Amino acid sequence: MGLFTRRKALPPTRHGYQPPPGGVGRRWICPWDECGRGGPDHPADRWPRTCPGCGTAVVTFSLAEPWQHAAKRVELDARLGGSPDWGDPDRARAEDLLWAADEALRNGHADRVPAIATRLADLLDAGRATGRAEGYDQLFHLVRLLGAAGEWGTAAGVLRRWRRSVRHDDLEDNDQRTEARMLAASLIFYLEEAPATVPVDRQGVWELLQEFIPVMESVVTADIDRSWKRLRHTMAGRRDPDEAAARALERLAALDAARPPRGLPAETPLRMEILGRHTAKGSDSTLDASPIWTVCLQPYLSVSPEELAAVVLPVGGWPVYGASRCLRELGTHDEDGPAYGAIWDAGLEFYHGTGVSSAHLSFDDQQRWIRRHGPGSW
Ligand SMILES: [Zn+2]
Repeated sequence: MGLFTRRKALPPTRHGYQPPPGGVGRRWICPWDECGRGGPDHPADRWPRTCPGCGTAVVTFSLAEPWQHAAKRVELDARLGGSPDWGDPDRARAEDLLWAADEALRNGHADRVPAIATRLADLLDAGRATGRAEGYDQLFHLVRLLGAAGEWGTAAGVLRRWRRSVRHDDLEDNDQRTEARMLAASLIFYLEEAPATVPVDRQGVWELLQEFIPVMESVVTADIDRSWKRLRHTMAGRRDPDEAAARALERLAALDAARPPRGLPAETPLRMEILGRHTAKGSDSTLDASPIWTVCLQPYLSVSPEELAAVVLPVGGWPVYGASRCLRELGTHDEDGPAYGAIWDAGLEFYHGTGVSSAHLSFDDQQRWIRRHGPGSW
């Protein structure tokens, strides 16, 4: 991936956003329509001042965050301002609403997102009535943004509203087919990523998926089908958590044997959830210690707390508690590092919330809690 930064400011974007000094660019493009060299598919290891094809001064095509978010605002203002060259105004409105939701989440105003999501769903409904459905791409991204922000309740609400309004009377239609797949993928995303600490919403979303898959069966993709089969297996096994965990361990062990993990192992939140529950149960756990070691601990010997934090902190719940146990068990990481500390504290907060007595805490955990919350606060 090309990253570009230099002391001199990057060129402005096509829409006139000027990246500040230190802004990191990802791609350049030639702004002359008949040339258009550069852009998303072009390697950006070197940034020419002028286009090597036609000599026009290049512009910035895309940037790293947070500059891309700022550049997108300028682009949307131009498109909403009615420049006829910049495509469909309904699409610009849908992108504007997604941008507003992203902005709210970035600024800690998650409470504003449900109203924005409703406007997006309304825009999509209005578009469907006139045969120009715009907004399902943005709903798809919104569910992911909400998941990354830990706003699973809002995400479940968006999915319920979306399921109520999606059309599937003519799945030969390109928009209908694409939207149906995006909704199914979003329901699956929720079920695969939402923590087990939101059981009511999870059950509701699971019921939506169970009802929706048969409706769109004729256009189910291989990816959707694979996840659907896996979820039927894991969701059905939830009555006995140890049994479901044993099956998951077996599956993950086979996965690792086929392709040994390099870097962060696949399905880390699930691995950490299993480890967290197993550790909390102590001698009551019926799981074998040996697959716990090979699936939930050993692959993390070469994973940094920062890498682990990026995937477990947004999820919270048992996965973050499990991650704190993982770092502790492996004992090779710097406890004073911010990522280690954030995982440890979030794990203890969650564990406290389960109502367990402080007698179950190790000495180190007790000391950590007291340093953060004061004596007698458990
Ligand atoms: Zn050019």
